[in-house]
Order: sequence, then C-alpha cells, then structure tokens
Amino acid sequence: MRSVIAAVAAATIIAIPAFAQQDTTITIHAARALDGRGATINNALITVRDGKIVSIAPAKAGAPRATYELGSATIMPGMIDAHVHPGWYVDRTGTVQHSRVTAHLTESALAMEGNLYATLMAGVTTIQSVGGPEDFDLRDATERHVVPGPRILTSMGQINNPKLTPDSLRAVVRGYKAQGADLIKLFASAGLGSGGAQTLSDEQIQAICSEATSLGLRTVVHAISAASVRASTLAGCTEIEHGMFATQAELTLMAEHGTIYDPQIGLVLQNYAEHNDTYKFTDAAIKTLTDAIPVGNAMFKLAIATPGLKIIFGTDAVALAHGHNVEELVHRVHDGGQKPMDAIISATSACANALKLGDRLGSLTPGLDADIIAVAGDPSKQIEALRNVTFVMRTGVVYKGSK
Ligand SMILES: [Zn+2]
Repeated sequence: MRSVIAAVAAATIIAIPAFAQQDTTITIHAARALDGRGATINNALITVRDGKIVSIAPAKAGAPRATYELGSATIMPGMIDAHVHPGWYVDRTGTVQHSRVTAHLTESALAMEGNLYATLMAGVTTIQSVGGPEDFDLRDATERHVVPGPRILTSMGQINNPKLTPDSLRAVVRGYKAQGADLIKLFASAGLGSGGAQTLSDEQIQAICSEATSLGLRTVVHAISAASVRASTLAGCTEIEHGMFATQAELTLMAEHGTIYDPQIGLVLQNYAEHNDTYKFTDAAIKTLTDAIPVGNAMFKLAIATPGLKIIFGTDAVALAHGHNVEELVHRVHDGGQKPMDAIISATSACANALKLGDRLGSLTPGLDADIIAVAGDPSKQIEALRNVTFVMRTGVVYKGSK
C-alpha cells in the first residue's frame, strides 16, 4: 500500500503527507508573475509564510535558489470560479446525479471529492457553489485541508418555487442563513432549454433579494430572458448568472446598478453537447442549447463593450466539466473578443471583489492568503496557457508542484 501511495504521489507530484499547514517560509520564483489586477512583474520572487503572502518583487541577482524554482512559467493568483456544482456527478450506472447523495454514500462522497480535486488541480482555488446541502460537509473538509479541493462558498440550495408568497420566500432565505449559507441562489427564470422565461414575479424576486441583503448575504440569480435580468437588477440582487438573452438595455442597466454579471458562454453548453450520450437531452433540447452558443458569443461582445459592467468568471461546471473550468476563459477570448489579461483579471481580483473576498484573495499582494498557481507559458499572451497548470498552493499548502 505504501508503495502504491508513493507511486501515485510521484506520478501526480502531490506533496504528501497531505495538507497540514506548512508554517515554514516558502519562496517561489518564475520568469513572470501576473498580480491579478493587470500588472506583470518580471523575474518574480514571492515569499509565503504561515499561509500568507509576505512579499512579491523582482528577484535580486545572486539570491539563493527558491523553494520552488518554476523557470519560464507564469505565477498568478489562484483562480476563483463563481458558479460551480461540485455535487453533480455521473454515478456507476452512468446516470447524472444532481447534488444527490444516493444510497451508495461512499460513492457519492468520492465522486464529489473527485470533482473538487479536478477543480483544484486546474488552478481554481476558490469556488462558489450554487449549491446543495452536501456543500456543508464539502466546505468543511476542504477548509480544514482534510481533502484536496478549493475553498468553497455555498448557497446550500436554490430558491425556485413560484407558489410561495413573498413572506414565505423571506422565511426560506432566513432558513438558508440559519443553515450556514454564504449566499442565496434563486431562479428568476426557467432554464435555457425551456425558453428561459421569467418564473418568479418581480415582487417575489424583490422579497428574496431584499431579505438576503438585510441579512448580509449576497444574491446570485439564474436569469435567462431579458425580462428576468431586468427584474433581478431592479430588485437590487447582487449577481446575475447566464443572462443569455440580455440586450444592450439590460447590460447597461446592470452597469448603472453595479450589478455583477457572470455570463457562461464557453463550457457548460459545450459540455452538454459533447456528453449528450450521458445527459440524454432530446434532439430539440440539445438543438436549443447548441443554438444558444453563437447567441452567447454576440451577447458577450456587447457585455465587454458596456462601460462599467463588472464581468466575472463563472462556468456553471456540472458533471463531466469539473477541471475544465478554464475552457470558459479560452472561449471568452477566442469567440467573445475579450483580451487575455481582462479574462485573467475576471477570474482573480474582479471575482474576489464580487464575492467580497478582495481583502483576502484574488491578487498577489502582501498580507493576502497565499492562493498561488503557476502555468507553463504566458497566459496574458496566449490564454490557452491556463490549461497547463504546473503549481497549485492554497492558503500556503502546496497541492501540486515539484521542488
Ligand atoms: Zn448552475
């Protein structure tokens, strides 16, 4: 057994014994670092101690060899994905399970942990899960470094029942708060596959978002149609997901209200199409989903040209998409016209600020948590470099990388 573990560790270059806080000083050197706010530091040396970034500066001539000498790689902050479903997996019968712990408890737990592991190894050190009750234990396990995975923020569930009165919806929000939710997720519209029309009334959306705000919780809204995007923005909700049929009017409205926008154009629809033998959508439904890909590209081009609109990185990663998160960014650059550095900022400092974590995460700044990754090549020139993650540190603990 020992030799098996050693072989696995050697093959995957995971630091073992696992995941205890490493309280000695660690230095990391590479050809360049992207600070997550748009600056590049060449010949960068980062010092980490007790899980925090101590310093970042160009290495001095004759400096001793760094703990991790990463050569021609690019160092950057760990990425933050604002929309993930770690509880979605394919079980041993080939069936997609949606945040569902089956009778095979161990299978469910291992599958979810597998999703978290794939996500972390892909350079995503924080996720916002939107969300299921399983997140309560997943969040705790990664927070304590019991298993390898990203830091998790979770809504613990989703609010989508149009039959509830505004007062009942307020009570549901308070219930999630009591369960330990970090945010509230609501569905203001139907899914894309069924047309995406608004499903909650303006009054119901206002009840949920105002109650959450009064409790200090952010609100993340599934909204496909233009009307549902408009209603959610006017209701003061924090963050809009998808927004596939938003027009320039809604994009401008979001910018004016400071509403954060998290569009998905590059991973989730493509994943459904690629794996429809597993997902088993009808021919009509899969056509609706794939037909939306060029619609999303066109909408995204309008979004990045809308002054003041805060666009963040979120993938809607579901079963079979975990660990492929950066495909969203690659697509946004190649098919949505975004500049590579803007895509990187959207996945680091912009996302941290949107999730109210900017004082802890999202940039390479002394005093912040040491969530640091490295990729081969320079993603500010070639966004595909994000596919080749060679180093992952979360809160000072190295999960991937060789000395
Ligand atoms: Zn989702």
